[in-house]
Order: sequence, then C-alpha cells, then structure tokens
Amino acid sequence: MSLEEVYQRNLEHRAHRAGWLRAAVLGANDGLVAVASLMIGVSAASAPKFLITAGIAGIVAGASSMAVGEYVSVRSQNDIEESDRLLEIAHLEQAPEAELLELEHIYINRGLTPELAHQVAVAMHERDPLEAHLRDELGQHPHSKARPVQASIASACSFVIGGIIPFLGAFAPTAGAKAWSIVAFAIVGLGATGIISAKSSGSPLVKPTLRVVIGGSIGMAITAGIGALVHVSGI
Ligand SMILES: [Zn+2]
Repeated sequence: MSLEEVYQRNLEHRAHRAGWLRAAVLGANDGLVAVASLMIGVSAASAPKFLITAGIAGIVAGASSMAVGEYVSVRSQNDIEESDRLLEIAHLEQAPEAELLELEHIYINRGLTPELAHQVAVAMHERDPLEAHLRDELGQHPHSKARPVQASIASACSFVIGGIIPFLGAFAPTAGAKAWSIVAFAIVGLGATGIISAKSSGSPLVKPTLRVVIGGSIGMAITAGIGALVHVSGI
C-alpha cells in the first residue's frame, strides 16, 4: 500500500458521528432502564394488571422528555458556540494584530518554534483567520457539531426502541414470569446497546458493554427494591 493510500484510508474517523450516536445510545439506554425499572417497580408493588398501561405511559413520557431534553441541551450548546463565534469575529475586526499574536502563542504552546509559529499563524490568517481561531483557539469543528433536531429525533426513537424491549416481558404468562422476563429482556437489550455503541464508535467491546449492563442493572435493582418496599408497607 502506498503512503498516499494509507493516508486516504486513515482519513476515516468517527468523530462526525459523535452527536447523534451519543444521543441514540443515551436514548436506548434510558428507554431500557427507565421502562424496565418502572415496570419492575409496578410488578414488585403487586399491581401487575397495570403493567401494560405503565409500560406504554413510560415509553410515551420518556420519549417526549428525551426529545425535548436533547433539543434544549444541544441548542444551548450551539448557542454558546455561536456567541463565541460572534465574539471572535468582532475581535478579528477590532484587533487583527493581537489575534495573530494570540494564534502564534497557541502554536508555540503546542511545540512550534516562535519563528515557525509566526509563519504558520500568518499563513492561517491569510487563508481564513476565523476558521483558524475557531478551531485552534476554541476547539470548534463544524463536522462534529451536533444538530438539535437530529439529536432530538435520534434519542426519542431510540428510547422507544429501548423501551419496547422490556415492555414485551409484560406479555409473559404469570406474574413471576413477567417480572423476570422484563429483567432478562432489559439486560439483553443493554448488552446489545453496549455492543452496537462500541462497534459504531470503533472502541473495544468488553469494557463499555459491561459498564452499560452493570449501570442499568443497578438502576433496575434500586427501583425493584422501592417497589417491594411500597408493597410491603401497603401504600
Ligand atoms: Zn482569537
């Protein structure tokens, strides 16, 4: 393989997936854990006849809240970046020389000699000073920027998919079988989310998957405990 081919192959990175992938993994995780926890809590409180109602309500409520939450959080992140951008445009207009010096110092701190840093900064300012400052000073990269609507839809849809998995456990024949199926489906679903997220982010499989499974199981155990307490105390 020629150097040029290796270079072209290595251009393939995953950072551009960061925005929606993070939203989708979070949504699926939340769907699995929240819906399973809710239903386990309901069945542990000995109210199995409400199990299907509780599951559907949990899926709808969770998906709406994920959609709104993602939208608001990505929007406010983008708003911060946008006001930084406007500030940088103003600085470049008011004091281009000071901005050039600033860029030089950034490159010196990254290991260039003062002469080389000066040359690089001048070259960057000749091409596109704003782009250079956004990237090297503020760490903004247009290709990894999350889009609010995309993130919102990704997390709501993955919440629904995640939630349906433990929900299917409600159709098992007996009360005990329902509870155990919900737990088992949720754990299998958590494992699958871990594997899918590791695969699509290109990271190793075992650790992130275990993290997702163990974290989710703790969440379910806590709600089951609370449901059982409610049942025992007869609230
Ligand atoms: Zn600057």
